Amino acid sequence: GAMGWPRMGIETILDAPWVKGKKVANMSKTGLTDHIQSIITNRKDIKEPFYVLDYGKVVNLMDKWITSLPNVKPYYAVKCNPDPALLIAISALGGNFDCASKGEIEVVLALGVSAERIVFANPCKPEAHIKYAAKVGVNLTTFDSVDEVEKMRKWHPKCALLLRLKVGDENAKCPLGDKYGAFPEEVTPLLQAAQKAKLVVAGISFHVGSGARDSGAYKSVMEAAKEALNTATRLGMPRMHILNFGGGFTSGPQFDDAAITIKNTLKTYFSDVPNLTLMAEPGRYFAETAFTLAVHIIGTRIRGDLREYWINDGLYGSMNCILHDLAATLTATPLACSSNRANPTCRGAKTYKSTVFGPTCDAIDTVFLEYQLPELKRDDWLVFPNMGAYTAAAGSNFNGFKTSEIVTYLAYSTPLCDGINKTITLNGGINGTIPFTRTTKRSFDQFPQAASNSKKKKIVLVS
Ligand code: PLP
Repeated sequence: GAMGWPRMGIETILDAPWVKGKKVANMSKTGLTDHIQSIITNRKDIKEPFYVLDYGKVVNLMDKWITSLPNVKPYYAVKCNPDPALLIAISALGGNFDCASKGEIEVVLALGVSAERIVFANPCKPEAHIKYAAKVGVNLTTFDSVDEVEKMRKWHPKCALLLRLKVGDENAKCPLGDKYGAFPEEVTPLLQAAQKAKLVVAGISFHVGSGARDSGAYKSVMEAAKEALNTATRLGMPRMHILNFGGGFTSGPQFDDAAITIKNTLKTYFSDVPNLTLMAEPGRYFAETAFTLAVHIIGTRIRGDLREYWINDGLYGSMNCILHDLAATLTATPLACSSNRANPTCRGAKTYKSTVFGPTCDAIDTVFLEYQLPELKRDDWLVFPNMGAYTAAAGSNFNGFKTSEIVTYLAYSTPLCDGINKTITLNGGINGTIPFTRTTKRSFDQFPQAASNSKKKKIVLVS
């Protein structure tokens, strides 16, 4: 493949050290819904929520990336979903990693990935984390302040730096420009500070905002990046050679748009710059569609025409994305598997306005309001597709419901990587609204025990 990447395909993942010898379910004939149904009906002891990670999707997404942006090396943003089963797949397919902390570097190194394949893409790092990066040889990081230059000089002077520039796709789901990135007038003093500290500034990085919707944001930031390259040259610094496009990619048509814009703006601004190294830090792109979440209905209440359900995951767990990953639009389809019901997918069944509550005692822990669902019973299930991005990663153990213990089942939906993005259609096609919007966003400190919990996670493999 491009840039000498390993041969792609499910085989590559199954051969990866962490997966080798373990059984991974083949869903290419059954489909996802039937697979989840078989897990539920064959294993009556399963009552806890669980994820299914579809390796076929990861393969196709990597294939699509390489086809669309063959020269841009993806460094998967671990924060988006640190599930080791996903990390090993991305590693096996030739991807590299963006780590935000010592903890994430540890997780990635523990999988056998070498330190050169990691960018420490956090512009403000704690002292101990910088010292750890120096110790294990993670030698590429980002910065956007003079203080960070000083910290790097003191604790990790061998580390190459990427100057993070401020950009904004103001329409992104989660714009990052308010927090990170140097203003144009800060570029010169920051480069001078690095020069004075005898640090190498190897290139430029930016992030157009997670869930970016306007690929035009690349144009202005690439212009600024070119300007910064020229400034460095004017200051007599070695020529910068790395361009890091950050994250913000969403799979589907938005990705095609972004890829075209990136290629065009590269041509416009950088065609005269030889030997550029191009990289990016996609998180959502790889994780979002690869995971499906199944949750168990643990209680019901009927109030006239209204149906109310309690499920065993919610806004303090996987569905924290409703609050933190702003404007996340969740959908769910039913699997009526209690007492071996005749029509598990409820096709054609009458639907009711339904409220779906999470398990904690907080009233904000409400996943759906006025969502159309068929009549369900306790012990039935709801299946949430596209639940891989910023879900379990930021869930807490509030009220003793442990996001960290949600099990992931491994499976694949396609036996070969053929470059076609196969979409698994869940039954139902039911639409609904989510109860919370941007204006009801809560701050992090209202979430006690927000957990960094990837270490405790159990992975279960089934055939
Ligand atoms: N890189 C950095 C520095 C980030 O802060 C983030 C997300 O916050 C990402 C990459 C991943 O972004 P996304 O999931 O939108 O691709």
